[in-house]
Amino acid sequence: MKKWIGEIEGIIGDKERIFTDLAHLIPYSTDSSTFKNNPDVVVFPENKEEISEIVKVCNREKIPITPRGSGVGYTGGAVPIEGGVLLSLTKMNKILEIDLDNLIATVEPGVITKTLQDEVKKYGLFYPPDPASLKISTIGGNVAECAGGMSAVKYGVTKHFVLGMEVVIPTGEILRFGGKVFKNVTGYDLTSLMVGSEGTLGIMTEIQLKLLPLPEVRRTMMVLFRDMYKGAKTVSEIIINKIIPVAIEFLDGDSIRCIKDYKNINSWEDMDGMLIIELDGKEEDTKRDMKKLEKIVKKMDGKIFKVAENEEEREEIWETRRALSPAIGKINNTKVNEDIVVPRNKIPDILHKIKEIGKKYNLNIICFGHAGDGNIHTNIMIDGRNLDEVKRSKMAVKEIFSETIKLGGFISGEHGIGLAKKPYLKMNLQKETVELLKRIKRAFDPNNILNPGKIF
Ligand SMILES: Cc1cc2nc3c(=O)[nH]c(=O)nc-3n(C[C@H](O)[C@H](O)[C@H](O)COP(=O)(O)OP(=O)(O)OC[C@H]3O[C@@H](n4cnc5c(N)ncnc54)[C@H](O)[C@@H]3O)c2cc1C
Repeated sequence: MKKWIGEIEGIIGDKERIFTDLAHLIPYSTDSSTFKNNPDVVVFPENKEEISEIVKVCNREKIPITPRGSGVGYTGGAVPIEGGVLLSLTKMNKILEIDLDNLIATVEPGVITKTLQDEVKKYGLFYPPDPASLKISTIGGNVAECAGGMSAVKYGVTKHFVLGMEVVIPTGEILRFGGKVFKNVTGYDLTSLMVGSEGTLGIMTEIQLKLLPLPEVRRTMMVLFRDMYKGAKTVSEIIINKIIPVAIEFLDGDSIRCIKDYKNINSWEDMDGMLIIELDGKEEDTKRDMKKLEKIVKKMDGKIFKVAENEEEREEIWETRRALSPAIGKINNTKVNEDIVVPRNKIPDILHKIKEIGKKYNLNIICFGHAGDGNIHTNIMIDGRNLDEVKRSKMAVKEIFSETIKLGGFISGEHGIGLAKKPYLKMNLQKETVELLKRIKRAFDPNNILNPGKIF
């Protein structure tokens, strides 16, 4: 056994929290992407001191460390691509405090997103960031990827809720950035720098999150369109009319047909676009905005298919949206999933471009997503064994990114760069900006041990 692994064993001191046998390494070799590589060792630390000691050994020996939450990231962020230590944060999963005086939760990074949401709900509070993976993903993974979700239109994404954190940086020092305050201009904002840093700058060991009071009511409607582009245009019509729903989810015609087949729905004939719109707030405000929404939808030739009258019906509407993932999974064996973001009023333009690109390369590209914040998931459905299709899908991705950038958008709205989008980073950022990012990385991690090979 390598000497450094023996040292880490000594730090952990518990055989149930460190593994080097293949059977335990393989499950940690990948995430929700297609990248794969085994680590040399998988470790489950229980506190910051253990992490700090492990990091010191790795820094001295120049061994790569990959932090990992639940491993449901889409871009290979948690894949130990250069081997070394896979540091699973799943045993650090305590909600340390719910501070009702300040409406702030302090959590360990391995807390599951939904567990936190369910817990704060007991106090009439809520933690809005709601990635579709919330039943599995960890808060640490959410912060490291700056995860977004359906409710980002009104409430924002993870970065809008992180107030402070404790971090072990690659030299092994344990640092505190930010704290339980809502304003803080004391030095550079390192808390914000950590959000979306994809496990490349430090290992978060404690996180402070802003909570909000639960809204009084929620109103949800499902609207269908014969013309998908009118559906997409309705998104900016809603915003122009100064209505900010919690969520505006868009599904294109292909998405609708997938769900229709998957759930045996007969009533959506000739429909080519769908919006799911949710409002929340005070009873009278949501009633007023609902009336305004109805007028907008009518003007845009949309058909209100369903308005949820109670929580059960609301759940039914969202269940339809959630069915999309398994439904498109049935089309083909490989999904090339991108998460571009454009200014909200450019959604119809990017949809046109994507559909044209699909035709050009003879590929089925299914588009849906959090249209209220301009974030469209493009899913190219291919047979991964067909090398020609794989090649065409790569060309299509590059063109989609190029059109996105021309419209003032970015290649990732919420999944991060990781390994998957690293070849395209320079298309989107200035050369000098990429160099600055690399210098920041070197300032934190001079030996390039923390999640090497990611982003750049
Ligand atoms: C079905 C499905 C639906 C999804 N829906 C959404 C969605 O709606 N919105 C969205 O934004 N994403 C979504 N995702 C992507 C994914 O769920 C998120 O990126 C999530 O934040 C990953 O959490 P995780 O705990 O699995 O992190 P992991 O995948 O384990 O890790 C992600 C990154 O975070 C780093 N990391 C993890 N913990 C720490 C830590 N404590 N300190 C430092 N770095 C750390 C890792 O090194 C890695 O780079 C979805 C994924 C799936 C499979």
